[in-house]
Amino acid sequence: MGSRRGSERREEDLGTAETPQRHDVLWFPDGNVVLATDVYLFKVYKGLLSMQSSVFRDMFDLEDVGTVRSGDEAVQDMYDGAPLVTLVGDKGEDVVHLLRAVFEHNYHHRDDRNTPLDVVTALLDLSTKYDFKELRKDAVFQISQQYPMVLEEFDDVNDAETPMFGHQRSECDIPLLKAAFKAGIDALLPILFLSGACRDISSILRMSGSMDSECLNILLEGREPLVVRINMLLMDLPDNVQEVLGGTNCQDVKKCKKAAYEKLSYLAHSYIYHIQGYIVVDCHLRRICQYCRPAAIKYINKKREEIWEDIPSLFGYPGWDDARTKLKELLGS
Ligand SMILES: [Zn+2]
Repeated sequence: MGSRRGSERREEDLGTAETPQRHDVLWFPDGNVVLATDVYLFKVYKGLLSMQSSVFRDMFDLEDVGTVRSGDEAVQDMYDGAPLVTLVGDKGEDVVHLLRAVFEHNYHHRDDRNTPLDVVTALLDLSTKYDFKELRKDAVFQISQQYPMVLEEFDDVNDAETPMFGHQRSECDIPLLKAAFKAGIDALLPILFLSGACRDISSILRMSGSMDSECLNILLEGREPLVVRINMLLMDLPDNVQEVLGGTNCQDVKKCKKAAYEKLSYLAHSYIYHIQGYIVVDCHLRRICQYCRPAAIKYINKKREEIWEDIPSLFGYPGWDDARTKLKELLGS
């Protein structure tokens, strides 16, 4: 059995091109472990990390934490008097968000829609990797609040001009989809795939860098039939909606039966938000009477709901009920 000895590292030993620096906030002089990333060193507490993360607990439970073998000798990497553990593959800035959420009570609130997007995606990613159960639930809850899976609620949040997570909503969909796919959050994926698919192709391609190729394939393959379904609804509208116009209370049957459609082609897109009944009728189906208007809106909304119900299947998921159940289970676990 090899002997053990401590090997004290200095900052200049740690990096090559860029030497990681002690983090200003996450450096507790009486901490008992030093975590190293590409740009930062963190001196923190093993016990607090172990309490929240099974991965760190298992890591620290190993007697030889931070130990590397050198011939017959087991050499304990030490830094500033504490074992040194390198977090491979994690970005220092992302680890800052994770550790601050762990060590600072007020750093992250799951009800806050203004949490920066980078924080939300880093917490989802790293809480999954290191199994911080509560943090992961908080990040999933936070995203789910902005991406409801009930059509009326989805329309309400899309309608809001208020920025979300420090960005326009349209800039959040793809990064959140990317993060949720990587973290395997099936409960959020149907609604995030839909939200991503509502964006135009150039935006999708611009923002999909580093996205898992399977995720991009599902997104693009689901977007195609979504566009087709919306276009079919629009193209069939002039014929089909006539059936509900000119009913019993109609004020001018002749006029309503000849209702003019204007610029319906503007709606030929994947953006399901814009084919809400009242938008289609008030902006694109002019000159119908006040009795025919609600009938036309109701008809279009019914057709739109049929598309909505099929959306999870376009991306390979069972349905909204299944996603809602999974979300409830995840948040309640
Ligand atoms: Zn009428």
